[in-house]
This record gives sequence, structure tokens and C-alpha cells, in this order.
Amino acid sequence: MANLEQTLVLIKPDGVQRGFIGEILGRFERAGLKVTALKMVHAAHEDVDKHYALTEEWMKGVFEKAKTKYETKGETFPYTDHIAYGTDIKNGLVAFLKSAPIVAMVLEGEQAVSLVRKLVGATEPASAAPGTIRGDLSHDTYALSNSQNRPLRNLIHASGTVDEAKNEIAVWFTDVELYKYEHVNDRVQYDPSWFLG
Ligand code: ADP
Ligand code: MG
Repeated sequence: MANLEQTLVLIKPDGVQRGFIGEILGRFERAGLKVTALKMVHAAHEDVDKHYALTEEWMKGVFEKAKTKYETKGETFPYTDHIAYGTDIKNGLVAFLKSAPIVAMVLEGEQAVSLVRKLVGATEPASAAPGTIRGDLSHDTYALSNSQNRPLRNLIHASGTVDEAKNEIAVWFTDVELYKYEHVNDRVQYDPSWFLG
């Protein structure tokens, strides 16, 4: 039985302004994902705020991820307070996401959440593997973004878990904007009787 999931992707302002809407969408389609909702939006503050309903745990996470990266490069991480660091990043992200149009989409497929995260790559583009969207199309670093006091320009947001995806989809789309239709992969990838005729 296929374990079909839905996940939310946002192409951030840097992805739109660098002309990568088609490139990014194409990579998801090529991987067999079905687009079930899609729109360009210049977001209001409340939507972005709801989307990034970030907890202290998230702040701890971004702090630790960045600290580890600095230390593996033999550099000293110049911040000590994870709440101050995380709050700064959150505020920067909200400002960035509502600064210009973004593209929001819902993608559906077998284990879509983890598949999309794999295609997107690591948070810091400079560390993201070649072949991933962030690894191929950006080379921003923690060091540069932190020195410029701005969020990483990593082109894209993708839900981290199925629950996160449910909440995030509801921020950006109403029920009538979520489409059901037949896609070739419903047959060729997921229908067990496909080649039996
Ligand atoms: P991801 O987008 O890979 O799920 P996170 O949820 O940890 O990453 O962070 C959300 C976004 O915040 C990232 O995509 C990035 O734009 C920004 N960000 C995260 N950590 C940092 C950091 N240490 N410095 C600057 N920006 C960051
Ligand atoms: Mg995240």
C-alpha cells in the first residue's frame, strides 16, 4: 500500500527573483510528485507569522546546527544565547518572506515529506550536497548570513514532518484550493494492477 503524504513547499523571494520557479518545480515533478495546489502570493504578516510558529526548541536547533558548523571549520561561534539568536533569525525570516512574492505549493506522493527534504538539501547551501536544490543553486553560508544579520538565502522552505505539513498547508491554502485529479503516477507508480492491464 502506498503511504501517500502531502507536504508544503515555499519558493522564497530569492528563488523567485533568481528565476528558479520552473527549475525547482521541475525537479519535484521529475521525482514523481503530484502538484495538488500552487500559487504566487505576496504574503501578509499574519500568514508568515503563523507559518513560522517557531518554538524555543526550534531556536535551540538552529543555534546548535550553526554552532556545530562553525566548530567543524575550526571557527568560534560568536553567539551564546540561543533564544536571542533564534529570535533574530525568526524575525529576519518573517521580514524576508513578506518582502516580495513567493510561490506556495502542495506536493503529494509516497513519503513526500522526506522525499522533498532530500531533494531540497541541508539548511546551509554551502553544506548542501550537490544534486540537491540548495546545493546546486546556492552557496550561501552561516558565516556570511550571520555577518550580514539576515536569514540564509536558501531558496526554499519545505515542511519537516507530516504534522508540520498539515498546519502549514492550512496557513497557505483553503480546502477548495487543494485539487484532486488523476496523475499518471497514480497508475504507473502506485497502482498495483497497472501493468496487468
Ligand atoms: P530548514 O529550512 O532547512 O528546515 P530551519 O527550520 O532550521 O531550516 O530554519 C528555517 C530557516 O531559517 C532556514 O531555511 C534559513 O533560511 C533560516 N536559518 C536557519 N538557521 C539559520 C542561521 N543559523 N542563520 C541564518 N539563517 C538561518
Ligand atoms: Mg525547518
